[in-house]
Amino acid sequence: MEKLWMKNLRKIDPYVPGEQSKNKNIVKINANENPYPPSPEVEKVLKNFSSKNLRLYPDANAFSLKKAIADYYGVEVKNVFLGNGSDDVIAVAFQALFNSDLPVVYPDLTYSFYPVWCSLFNIPYKNYPVGDDFRINVEDYKEPNGGVIIPNPNAPTSLGEGLDFVEKLMEYNSDSVVIIDEAYVDFGGVSSVPLIKKYENLLITNTFSKSRSLAGMRIGFAIGSETLISVLEAVKNSYNSYTVDSVSIEAGKASMLDDRYFKETCKKIIATRERVTAEMREMGFKVLDSCANFIFATKDDMSMKDMFEYLKTKDVYIRYFSVPRIENYVRISIGSDDEMDIFLKELKGYVKK
Ligand SMILES: *Cc1c(COP(=O)(O)O)cnc(C)c1O
Repeated sequence: MEKLWMKNLRKIDPYVPGEQSKNKNIVKINANENPYPPSPEVEKVLKNFSSKNLRLYPDANAFSLKKAIADYYGVEVKNVFLGNGSDDVIAVAFQALFNSDLPVVYPDLTYSFYPVWCSLFNIPYKNYPVGDDFRINVEDYKEPNGGVIIPNPNAPTSLGEGLDFVEKLMEYNSDSVVIIDEAYVDFGGVSSVPLIKKYENLLITNTFSKSRSLAGMRIGFAIGSETLISVLEAVKNSYNSYTVDSVSIEAGKASMLDDRYFKETCKKIIATRERVTAEMREMGFKVLDSCANFIFATKDDMSMKDMFEYLKTKDVYIRYFSVPRIENYVRISIGSDDEMDIFLKELKGYVKK
């Protein structure tokens, strides 16, 4: 029997991340993780980090990491906000910046965490369907709204938009806060960070999880005007006055400073992506032109759900979403060349059957 107090418990459908397996030998290309290790400079920091330092609270402002990020992007420290992964950053942004009675708007096919935060924080929301080519139509975003959030490149479609798109979006939304989620921008997208000087209502979020191979460390950040950043800080400091931990501050800084390694790994992933895309197209797949570290693909005469299940029996984990419009698509993260060779071999075995 339901107890009376149970009706006061929160009922919510949480976000479901990509499956993690206990089996270490699987080809795990289902969560857009980076196949390469973080910068060797991060390894050095971890080796040399003294546990004695953990006695103290971390620098609440994480100045040294913020400074490294600010220098990298050519902005001031006061333009940088830091969180425990960009999921934390975006969750704070929703609470801090989306306080209108009008709905927050985003594409129908997008990061599935957005509706979860809207529900959690009681924010009204609304989708605009992307076109049949899965492109976002910027003209949809002309109606009054309570805020806009768009990933660029978008997930799971992998499609990227240029600065002309973001400029138009800003022109139509001078009365709202606009968030561009750039989790995948380093793999060939165009960053809108330079536009924050022109638009005080524009916030860019990014993460160390994908292009910097630090998903396990949880570092995310936002770049925007001093006005937006100070509101984010105030909301964050109202429930958790510390940023990331002391180890993450040092490791994140080392990663940000090693630009050569960063560019090299991004370049390798892009090259592998282009090779896998070409091979899959040769096999008859339709593969969207990706600007990210994953590809989005389908094959007209074949069930992608069955293919996804089959690959799993071969210890190759890709991602399938049982979501209208994309129920016959799969998302494949770009792994190392060896991993992608195994994937392609198993895929060929399946297609030939
Ligand atoms: C992965 C991802 C994030 C969040 O990543 P964190 O690991 O929390 O930094 C945010 N937005 C999109 C679109 C993502 O794919």
